[in-house]
Amino acid sequence: MNERKQTTDRYTLADLERWNEVTRDVDPPIRMGVFGDPVAHSLSPQMQNAALRAYEINMQYARFHIRPNELPLALRLLREFDFVGINLTVPHKIAGLTQIDVADESARRCGSINTIRLHDKKLFGSNTDAEGFSRAVRSEFSIDLRDLRVMILGAGGGTGHAIAWQCALENCERLVLVNRTPAKAIAIVQRLRPFFAAPRVLGPVARIEAVPWEESALRAQLADVDLIVNATPLGMNSSDSAPIPARLLAPHHIVFDCVYRTSKTALLRAADEAGARGANGLSMLLHQGALSFSVWFDREAPIEAMRSAIAP
Ligand code: NAP
Repeated sequence: MNERKQTTDRYTLADLERWNEVTRDVDPPIRMGVFGDPVAHSLSPQMQNAALRAYEINMQYARFHIRPNELPLALRLLREFDFVGINLTVPHKIAGLTQIDVADESARRCGSINTIRLHDKKLFGSNTDAEGFSRAVRSEFSIDLRDLRVMILGAGGGTGHAIAWQCALENCERLVLVNRTPAKAIAIVQRLRPFFAAPRVLGPVARIEAVPWEESALRAQLADVDLIVNATPLGMNSSDSAPIPARLLAPHHIVFDCVYRTSKTALLRAADEAGARGANGLSMLLHQGALSFSVWFDREAPIEAMRSAIAP
C-alpha cells in the first residue's frame, strides 16, 4: 500500500510540468498555493492550511518557487489542474495582472494581483493586499487610514501601489509616495490626484506628492507624516538595512513594515530607537489571507485559526 504524505514542501516549475506524477501520493491533494521568488519565508501555507483544517476541507496549500521568467508557463500549466486558487507574492504581483483572464475591480485599481481563483480553466485575479493593509493598520494602531498622513516607501511596487490606492479610496489626509525608481511614484500620483482634490485643513503642504528617495527630501516631508509604510522587500534578509534611518524618525510616527520576520526588522528597531510605535506585516498577512480565503470559498475565513497558526 502506498504511504500517503502530507506536505507543504517547496515545489518548482519542473514539478508543475510533471504535476500528477510528482503529487500522486500526496494526501490531502494540493489544490492551492503561493508562487514567489523567494518563497521559503512565506507563512501563507501554515495559515491557509489551518483554515482548510478548521473547515474540514480536504485539500492543502503548498509553496512554489517560481522565478519571474517562469510565471507565464506556471500560470498556463495551472489552468490544466484542478486547483481552487493561488496567491502571488514578491515579485509577481504586477506581472501577474497581465497574465490572467479576468481582473476584478480591486485588481484593475491596484494594478497588481495577489489572489487568483480558477474556474472553468480560467484565471480570475483580485487584490486583497489593499483591504488587508487597511484592516491591519486598524487592528494594530486603532486608527483609520482616513485620519492619517501616510508615506509609502516602495510605492511603485505591487504592494506599495495597492496600499496607495487604498489610502486614496479611504481619503487619507495626505499621501507621500517614495520609490527607488521615481517615475513610478510620479505616475501613481498623477492617477490618484483626483481623490485628493478636496481641501483639508493641512497648512502649506500638498495633499499628495511624490518625493525623491533622498534624506533631505524625506526629512522635509516627515514632519507632516504620521504613518510610514515599508512596502519594499528591505528587511526580508536579516542583514538588510532599514529603508530609512532612525535619525529621521520621531516619537509621533507610527511605522508599518509590510515585511514579517520572527526577529525585528532594522526598520522596526529604528522605530524603537526613535520612540515611535511600530508593527510588522503579520497582521496584514492575516487579513489579506482571510480575504483571499473568502474569494476562493465564498465564505468568511476562520480568522482565529489562521491567527493562531502564524502567532510568533
Ligand atoms: P515588488 O512588486 O517586487 O516591489 C518592490 C518595491 O520595492 C518596488 O517599489 C521597488 O522599487 C522597491 N525596492 C526593491 N528593492 C529595493 C531596494 N533595495 N531599495 C529600495 N527600494 C527597493 O514587491 P511586492 O510584491 O510589492 O512586495 C514588497 C514587500 O512587501 C515584500 O517584502 C513582501 O513580502 C511584502 N508584502 C507583505 C505582505 C503581508 O501580508 N505582510 C503582503 C504583500 C507584500 P523599484 O520600483 O525601483 O524597483
